[in-house]
Amino acid sequence: MATSKKPLTLLIAAPRGFCAGVDRAINIVELALERYGAPVFVRHEIVHNKYVVDSLKAKGAVFVKELDEVPDGVPVVFSAHGVPKAVPAKAEERGLSYLDATCPLVSKVHRQAERHIEHGRHILFIGHAGHPEVIGTFGQVPEGNMTLIETAEDAEAIAPANAENLAFLTQTTLSVDDTAGIISVLKRRFPTITGPKGEDICYATSNRQAAVKEIARRCDAMLVIGAPNSSNSVRLVEVAEREGTPAWLVGRAEDIDLAWLDGASTLGITAGASAPEVLVREVVDFLGKHFDVHEEPVEGVEERMVFKLPRSLEAA
Ligand code: SF4
Repeated sequence: MATSKKPLTLLIAAPRGFCAGVDRAINIVELALERYGAPVFVRHEIVHNKYVVDSLKAKGAVFVKELDEVPDGVPVVFSAHGVPKAVPAKAEERGLSYLDATCPLVSKVHRQAERHIEHGRHILFIGHAGHPEVIGTFGQVPEGNMTLIETAEDAEAIAPANAENLAFLTQTTLSVDDTAGIISVLKRRFPTITGPKGEDICYATSNRQAAVKEIARRCDAMLVIGAPNSSNSVRLVEVAEREGTPAWLVGRAEDIDLAWLDGASTLGITAGASAPEVLVREVVDFLGKHFDVHEEPVEGVEERMVFKLPRSLEAA
C-alpha cells in the first residue's frame, strides 16, 4: 500500500553514544547496588543523562550534591567527571567506603596536573567554568596554581607571574578545533610552555566530533541526543552548525519539534557520550511515525576501549 508519509533518510553517525568511561561509571553503580544492596549514594549525576540517572534511581541509587548528605555507613560513588582531592579525603575522615567512578582519562589529567606542580609550574587549564570535571581538576592542585582559560581571547590576555615556567592541560570533552586554536595562542605567547602532545581531549569526544563532521554536510539538519549539561554533546551541536547544518540537542524523542524538519530530506543523528542507544532508537521510532524513514548507518572509527573496574568490584 502506498504511504503518504514524506521520505526521510537518516544518516546515523558512528561512533556515537556511550564511551568506555560512561560504561564503566554506570557499571560501578550497578555492581555496587548488587554487592552492597540499596541504597548506594552517588555524589553528583554519575554521568550527564537524565534517563541514566532515573534508571539507576529506580534500582536504588540515591543522588546527592555533597558528601554531607551521605549518611554514615553507606557506600558512596564519585561521578565519572572526577572530584577534588578534598572529597575522598573527607570520605576517609568520616570512615565512608567510597568507589571512584572517575574516568581513567580524567584521572590521567589529574596526575599530569600533580606532576606539573611538583616541577613548580603554573598550569593554564583550558576548559569551561563550572563544569564538574573542571572543578575536580582544579581540586587536584593547591589553590592559585591553576588558571582557567576558556577562549582564545583569554589566552591572549593572560599575564602569568612567571611566563617561563608554564604548563597547559585541557578538559577532556572540548571542541577539538577551538582547543587547537587556544593552544596555538598559548604556544605563540609562551614558547617554553609544556603540555600534552596534542591536548587531553579524549578519544570518544574527538571520534564523535569527527563522525559529525563526516556526515553534517550531507544532511539538511542534525539531531544530537544528549543533555544540555553534557559538554561533549553540546560540542557536537556546534560541530554540525559550523559545517553549516542546523542542529538541535534533544534529551529524548518528545523534545523534537517536527517544524525543525520542514523541507528536510536527509537528517543526521548522533548521541553524546553519556546518551544510551535506547534513546537513539526511541528517536528513530518517533521519526518513523511521521516520515517514511530510511536508515543509513555511517561507520567511522571503530572503538574498542574498555576500562577496568575498581579492584574492589572486579573481585565481586
Ligand atoms: Fe572518559 Fe571521554 Fe567518556 Fe568523559 S567522554 S567519560 S573523558 S571517555
